[in-house]
Amino acid sequence: MREDSCDAVNRVDQQRLWQRHMEMARIGAIPNNGVNRAALSREDIAARRLLLAWARQRNFTVCVDGIGNLFLRRAGSDPNAAPVMTGSHMDSQPRGGRFDGIYGVLAGFEALEAMDEAGVRTRRPIEVVAWTNEEGGRFQPCTMGSMVFTGARPLADVLDVTDNDGITLRDALAETLAATPEATKREFKMPAAGYIEAHIEQGPLLENAGKTIGVVTGIQGLRWFNIEVFGKTDHAGTTPLALRKDALRDAIAIIDALRDLAHDPADATRFTVGRMLVTPNSPNSVASHVLFSVDLRHPDPKRIRGLGEAVGPLARKAAKFCDVKVTPSLHDDPCAFDANVIAAIEDAAKNLALPHLRLPSGASHDAMYMARVCPTGMIFVPCEKGISHNEAENAKPADLAAGARVLTAALIELANR
Ligand SMILES: [Zn+2]
Repeated sequence: MREDSCDAVNRVDQQRLWQRHMEMARIGAIPNNGVNRAALSREDIAARRLLLAWARQRNFTVCVDGIGNLFLRRAGSDPNAAPVMTGSHMDSQPRGGRFDGIYGVLAGFEALEAMDEAGVRTRRPIEVVAWTNEEGGRFQPCTMGSMVFTGARPLADVLDVTDNDGITLRDALAETLAATPEATKREFKMPAAGYIEAHIEQGPLLENAGKTIGVVTGIQGLRWFNIEVFGKTDHAGTTPLALRKDALRDAIAIIDALRDLAHDPADATRFTVGRMLVTPNSPNSVASHVLFSVDLRHPDPKRIRGLGEAVGPLARKAAKFCDVKVTPSLHDDPCAFDANVIAAIEDAAKNLALPHLRLPSGASHDAMYMARVCPTGMIFVPCEKGISHNEAENAKPADLAAGARVLTAALIELANR
């Protein structure tokens, strides 16, 4: 490892990083250690103010773009070089935990502080970014900040979205932007030389394998479908089975067939039917109509494409008595992270003698959009029992610090290329 990297890594302060998590967790705190910090809410504004107060103490410059993404910059020796970025989000699920998202922002900030204290000079500037509205709990869609920043969707597309109280994103955003007047306005699509996002794993693989660092290879692909089965309602006591058009019986046959389709000895394919509506939903009536959701995920583009294409024909074939309608509702291709960024993260973990593991991300992240515009990677750290999007979300101070050390070394490496 480079000598300046060693110095900076040694300055990563586990106690300080943990304290900052606990301080942030007080903003929007709910019972049982939970956090409710909706995007562009009063709590989100308070979190932004706190982050900017810390940035001011370090003389980091602060920018904000038109959707409220915040960028804290530590200067490089070449002021014209595109920055390397790191970060994540500060909003949470309505009953979220203390680490999802905020860890990536605080680990990035810790990395910059450690570099400052070690007197490290990097060629490129390094920026910590806090993306707006990653969770999508209050305003949909999710990962909105990175989506708009990278130009995947224009800002005008989302301004009229409303929350459950009828407040528009336009109004909530204006209030949020007004709360950070010291931030310089920045345009979307500003070029970045690289992006690394640190995050809790939100799954059990690292903990089960006894590893501290997840070197994330990409984000798996996702296909959603709504499947409708059209039958005929009849009396449960008087209608012989042979004469029925039972929509629920066919729905179950379809789900069984799809589960066989998704069967995977490697256990990498994810298949979920999480929602079902049965009509008339009465114990003594044969179901006339069933609607259910299908969520399929896999990291390999060929495999997820094959699965997605098979759903319609298989569903129609499996239904013995009823008509079937299959409607695709969401389609995200798998995203593969950059080989050089993956190597920088893996080398850092090796050099620090931290047990590590390559794995794909099961959940979506802002890194998915950044991967479209610059070399991107992610670092995972374990969370207790893999629990996330839950008040019980927990992580060990030592694991959070280990992730921040790997992040620090990898950022210095990328910022000198
Ligand atoms: Zn997150």
